[in-house]
Amino acid sequence: MKHRTIIEPFKIKVVEPLPMRTVEERERILAEVGYNLFGLHAADVTFDFLTDSGTSAMSAEQWGAMMVADESYAGSRSFYRFEQVVQRVTGYRHVIPTHQGRAAEHLLFSLRCKPGQLVPSNNHFDTTRANLEQLGVEAVDLVCAEGRDPTLDHPFKGNMDVGRLEAFLLEHRGRVPFVMMTITNNTGGGQPVSLENLRAVSSTCKAHGIPLLLDACRFAENAWFIKVREPGQGERSARDIARDVFATADGCLVSAKKDGLVNIGGFIALREDSWLGDLRNKLILTEGFPTYGGLAARDLEALAVGLDEVLDERYLAYREGVTRYVADGLSRCGVPTMRPPGGHAVYIDARALLPHIPAHEFPAQALAIELFRAEGIRSCEIGSVMFGRTPDGGFRPAALELVRLALPRRVYTQAHFDYVLEGIADIAARREQLRGVRITYEPPFLRHFTARFAPV
Ligand SMILES: *Cc1c(COP(=O)(O)O)cnc(C)c1O
Repeated sequence: MKHRTIIEPFKIKVVEPLPMRTVEERERILAEVGYNLFGLHAADVTFDFLTDSGTSAMSAEQWGAMMVADESYAGSRSFYRFEQVVQRVTGYRHVIPTHQGRAAEHLLFSLRCKPGQLVPSNNHFDTTRANLEQLGVEAVDLVCAEGRDPTLDHPFKGNMDVGRLEAFLLEHRGRVPFVMMTITNNTGGGQPVSLENLRAVSSTCKAHGIPLLLDACRFAENAWFIKVREPGQGERSARDIARDVFATADGCLVSAKKDGLVNIGGFIALREDSWLGDLRNKLILTEGFPTYGGLAARDLEALAVGLDEVLDERYLAYREGVTRYVADGLSRCGVPTMRPPGGHAVYIDARALLPHIPAHEFPAQALAIELFRAEGIRSCEIGSVMFGRTPDGGFRPAALELVRLALPRRVYTQAHFDYVLEGIADIAARREQLRGVRITYEPPFLRHFTARFAPV
């Protein structure tokens, strides 16, 4: 290879200023928001790695398509353009737009599930799990053993344990309305699922006569990982691989805020029409007429362009390169991360970095606060703040103390990441000086969004 530098495969036409605050300003702001990064104004954040959802930069072509959108209530030209792209990318015939992924989940689950049923997946995403559970359905995770070990290097840690799935479907015969697969597997930072595994899951489902649905928000990143990691796939295009992936299932639910390269949107796509009538009727009740489904036609236009752009292999190689660059850069400055890096996020192992801070003083939250205080970086704690509260309000340490850096698509340049890595190296060099935090206020559930903290 001639060049080592990963270049952004785009030129920049529109820019916005990078917010910059002084350390003193950030210390004052932190005290004001009770050291909870969800309370920050984005205008005070220099590098926002809170999420990759809805934070993509759109292309000139997407903005251009928005200008020519047809905002007709029924039968808009923009809908048919969007429908055609989804049909071409997925191979599914029926396309139902929704305003985002969880609306698609709620719509489909509320029609297809009954209390007392069970839905297995590799790992359910939070909103998928919550939408099933509020219907009285049990959401069950059957990810492979490798996927549960954060330090193990394995190419497809998102795979389903097919043996467990087979046993599960036998045990719960008649109680499983469908099986799901999340690609890439969000839990664990976007670990991919192999085509081989999807085919095995698909034939297990077929043998039991149970439909398979893909939670396919990051279908393009997953296709790219199949291309570069799965034997025999290296010469094929990401587009062809994605088609093969969709061919293993009966339909998909998609939050377009990820690989759709848009800021809002989602859809359901289905191979058969048997579920369609109910879905369209309920869509009209809750989201809107079937040719816009809670979106403006300009959103559908941007999404139609985004779904093609995301399959550009120069983009996908760059996307994977960025995540790897950040993870490898952290390793070089002695900051341990979950391995291997997935598609859309890098997870710092705060327990390993800050062994002197006990779990009940929240090492991952302490690190997230310091990343913002010293460097203006917003990350997300995934540790004992998020998972350490028992139902009776007690404390139980989370399995892992992680700080997630989710990487928005096409937003930050390599120079930004170099700057961020220098900042984190500096924090790592004085890690012994970091102190834990205690909770001064917490609500009874989902406390990570609104809890307040104080340094100990
Ligand atoms: C983001 C996401 C969803 C939910 O989508 P929203 O657009 O945020 O409602 C569902 N599943 C997965 C895997 C996701 O990453």
